[in-house]
Amino acid sequence: MHNRSGRNDKLSMPNAESQTSTEPPTALAPAEAATAILGEVARLGSERVPLVSSLGRVLSHDVKSPIDIPQWDNSAMDGYAVRRADITITGDKKVVLKVVDSIPAGAFPSGPIHAGECMQIFTGAPVPNGADTVVRQEDTTRIDEQRVRINDPRDAGRNIRKRGEDIQKSALVLERGTEIGPAQIGVLASIAAAEAPVTRIPFVAILSTGDEIADLDERKAILNGTKIASSNSYTMAAMAIVAGAEPLSLGIAKDNPDEIRALLTSAGTVDLLVTSGGMSVGEHDHLRQILRDEATQMKFWRLRTRPGAPVGFGILNGRPWIGLPGNPVSTMVTFELFVRPAIRKLRGHLKPFRRTRLVRLTQTIKTNAPLTHFLRVVVSEEKDGLSARLTGPQGSGILSSMAKADALMIVPEDRQVVKAGETLQAILLNETEHVAEVPY
Ligand code: AMP
Ligand code: MG
Repeated sequence: MHNRSGRNDKLSMPNAESQTSTEPPTALAPAEAATAILGEVARLGSERVPLVSSLGRVLSHDVKSPIDIPQWDNSAMDGYAVRRADITITGDKKVVLKVVDSIPAGAFPSGPIHAGECMQIFTGAPVPNGADTVVRQEDTTRIDEQRVRINDPRDAGRNIRKRGEDIQKSALVLERGTEIGPAQIGVLASIAAAEAPVTRIPFVAILSTGDEIADLDERKAILNGTKIASSNSYTMAAMAIVAGAEPLSLGIAKDNPDEIRALLTSAGTVDLLVTSGGMSVGEHDHLRQILRDEATQMKFWRLRTRPGAPVGFGILNGRPWIGLPGNPVSTMVTFELFVRPAIRKLRGHLKPFRRTRLVRLTQTIKTNAPLTHFLRVVVSEEKDGLSARLTGPQGSGILSSMAKADALMIVPEDRQVVKAGETLQAILLNETEHVAEVPY
């Protein structure tokens, strides 16, 4: 298909922007964009890693237990393994039993116990056949080597941990998609798994663009005001790491299509390309052009959001590419909204999105545009729930107010005024609970 300018047009999406600059682009709601991106991203392959190295990774397979845990009925107390019938036959508390063995943890009983017999036993040791009770040490008096008196029958029928009461052989112990924390590592260790099957860590290539920006090795130019520091290179790398990816810096491309193409190609076999800048409609916004001309599955050009309207997505040389806007706050907000969930999906999480929480506004806000706004706020815990106040000016270049924020408050596009005391949803930036469906 060729459009009016004769360019090969790979767009067939109804949502795709018209190729003529006089027509406005079709804009998507943020949830539509997130759904479109995640629809093109799939869980990566699996690898086996040493158990402790699996911390923070995501299980790629269901794990079943090859054994019962515990493997035998065992004692929950230090005391005497007895037959309940022997200690409850009469009202007489002065039952005396014959001590036939002593079983420390790590040893096995020499045989079963019979009527009138008992074995001294220690916590964790296997309970001998015939015993159905462990009487705690404190309730007994050892008369001599061979005899013990049971002073209190209150433990009758108790203090035995049953074989398989924790985990049964062949049972599913951990499900695919589970994030591995210390307790999961403990469960895996207890079933003798020295390695864990986990989803591979995504490699995320990060490219910043713009003639005006420089890396920190050009410190002089930055300090004397001839260049702008590429803070996006650093925020994107940091956010990629926090999301559980391995960032790969492609550096900074000048506003030059050939250089941008060359650097994007230098990414090699990464799992995700993320760029900042060059996604608007200006004549130096070449990324948008490259995305439009060279990527397939091109999904959108513009979102009905603030900050972060010019976001692009497509598949370039088989790799998903999320093009973020260059304004530092827009970059971070759109990374949170689109790149982080994509990374989580690649990592094997079944729930890509942070859940949102209801927060009460401490001040009236006006947004002045029918867009979904993500406002930088500080959330506090109050008696009746969470409250939120703005961190300060909300311009998309004001990174210092992002540094003060611990949440993004979501103002729906149909709410241009929200009064103090009303509630809205917010994404808490340290939220660890996640959901499967886009919550914004
Ligand atoms: P753009 O999206 O390329 O139009 O850039 C929008 C604004 O973000 C411009 O003012 C840029 O100077 C700024 N910007 C772009 N890339 C970066 C970057 N890597 N670090 C900091 N600011 C940037
Ligand atoms: Mg630019």
